[in-house]
Amino acid sequence: MIFLGAPGAGKGTQAKEVARVRQVPHLSTGDMFRDHVGRGTELGRKAKPIMESGALVPDEITLGMVEERIARPDCAPGCIFDGFPRTLPQAESLDRMLTQKGFGRTIVVHIAVDFGQLIRRLTGRRTCSVCGEIYNVHDRPPKVEGKCDKDGAALTQRKDDTEEVIRQRLEAYDKQTRPLIDYYRSRGALYDVNGSAGASAVTQEILGVLKSA
Ligand code: AMP
Repeated sequence: MIFLGAPGAGKGTQAKEVARVRQVPHLSTGDMFRDHVGRGTELGRKAKPIMESGALVPDEITLGMVEERIARPDCAPGCIFDGFPRTLPQAESLDRMLTQKGFGRTIVVHIAVDFGQLIRRLTGRRTCSVCGEIYNVHDRPPKVEGKCDKDGAALTQRKDDTEEVIRQRLEAYDKQTRPLIDYYRSRGALYDVNGSAGASAVTQEILGVLKSA
């Protein structure tokens, strides 16, 4: 299953929850890159300045990382991609990889949210520094300000959730990722979900899509 949508559409929140319910791995390329940056790997050193500018990491780096990840046995029953693919060459390569590995059908959920709400979500987003739980100071605040409800750890703001970088990321989405909507729609794989509703209502809609598909 692939989650498609602009930055701030709720892909991460939804992908995590659907992965938990369906017991399959949640593969967020953004999380993988942040992990590499945090560990100071060579890949992380390459990705860091690109991510901080709001641009996309080159396809060959992203594809190598994904190919290695989906080869692990936990992905055999299926997996959920969050933030990948993000360019047409990535989508075409993923098709090839999935065919080669004998994966079944790909279901693409497109989460649509209007522009004003995207900005509100991105500027208000806070993430638990330990478990990665996602909050929003406007719409989904933690019970205690600045602390995760689950483990009490500090909530942090992503470095690329500043106004200037957000503008770049939305531009990258419009130019490079939006064409994937037509790519998957023309293959009959796309399901549109209204992402403006509350998080649990959106999850229910997505689980319904999975069942019917
Ligand atoms: P995300 O957490 O999905 O918003 O991703 C954060 C940043 O990581 C993006 O702005 C890109 O710089 C990079 N990134 C994540 N996924 C991809 C991808 N599939 N292709 C290229 N760059 C990516």
